[in-house]
Amino acid sequence: MLASRVQHFSESVIRETSRIAQRYGAINLGQGMPDFDPPEEVKEAACRAIRDGFNQYAVTWGIAPLRQAIATKMRSFNGLPWVDPDEHVTVCCGATECMMATMLALVDPGDEVVIFQPFYENYGPDAKLTGATPKWVTLRTPAWSGCDARASGRQAASDTWSFDPDELRAAFSSKTKAVIINTPNNPTGKVFTRAELEAIAGLCREFDAVAISDEIYEYVNFTDRPHVSIAALPGMADRTVTISGLSKTFSATGWRLGYCVAPAAITAGIRKAHDFLTVGAPHPLQVAGAAALGLPPSYFDGLREHYRHRRDLFLPYLERAGFGVQPPDGAYYVMADFSGLSALDDTSFVRRMIETVGVAGVPGSSFHDPKELGRKLVRFMFAKRDETLHTAGERLLGLRERLAG
Ligand code: PLP
Repeated sequence: MLASRVQHFSESVIRETSRIAQRYGAINLGQGMPDFDPPEEVKEAACRAIRDGFNQYAVTWGIAPLRQAIATKMRSFNGLPWVDPDEHVTVCCGATECMMATMLALVDPGDEVVIFQPFYENYGPDAKLTGATPKWVTLRTPAWSGCDARASGRQAASDTWSFDPDELRAAFSSKTKAVIINTPNNPTGKVFTRAELEAIAGLCREFDAVAISDEIYEYVNFTDRPHVSIAALPGMADRTVTISGLSKTFSATGWRLGYCVAPAAITAGIRKAHDFLTVGAPHPLQVAGAAALGLPPSYFDGLREHYRHRRDLFLPYLERAGFGVQPPDGAYYVMADFSGLSALDDTSFVRRMIETVGVAGVPGSSFHDPKELGRKLVRFMFAKRDETLHTAGERLLGLRERLAG
């Protein structure tokens, strides 16, 4: 009875793991949502907007003050001086809708979309829903090679999760419509280097493909390299859709506010798809979103230290518990290798972890195709209060014993 388009992928494992964690009352280090709130003044702006009557549909592609704030930020932080709020910015219901609207606007059935793996779980289904074929390019580490992953201990972050340029080139063909980039990266924590982005940009130009760049963790970058938007590289402004949002920067994942910045011709297509998908993002939260983007620079600079602190608090627990970890360069996730702890596969391992010590992570196979590449990996997220991370860490220290028992 179901259409074939929904039969080519499974339900989201990330969201399913959250449901299981809730059932067991486990600490949810699976789905990427903080257990702390947006800044007080941003919450207050949302309450005020509701009281002040911003409660009906907004203009489909986003209210003018929010688009203006986004354009200002894209010009200064992302290095895109050409961004015009009326021509190039579309506000959607989260980066999630941005990606779907972009794919619907650009990709025809039979096209190919190049995706790096491990990948954020939505990208595969997004491509498949448009009838496209994903072409996977694997990010590797010297000590790990997918299903051969062994507890490897710490690795210099700069060596980790790199791609083979020949493999990348081989993924491109005359059928390639787009390549999806996510930097800083979920789930690996990789921050793509300028040279890597230049290599990807070169292939986009050569094969007449569009770069779809998900930069939702742009302010969570622990390296001393500035954030690089591929749209800012030579020849890329006309062939890049940059996606970001408020979920991660303002700890507001439930607000469902994201935005796409694209050349006018692509923006027209994105706006068409967006209009019929959702009509528009929540009006009062858009008003608050404009206030959030106007927070002082110290707020945005502070995010990096805020999450660096949490990374440095949580990773030692994982190492002491027996996981192999690669310290992430950005975002708020860490892929951990559990092969030194258990011979189970990733799904069974996560289930046992939830049942025995009450901590949830996400099975590594859900970020891979074929899934076998992630069978010894689990993703943890560390956007939690210190006390939550300490409690989860203490519980994980007892995991080896509980698994043996
Ligand atoms: N893109 C990436 C890479 C993510 O990790 C997530 C959420 O975890 C999203 C997009 C979803 O963002 P939003 O809440 O804006 O839909």
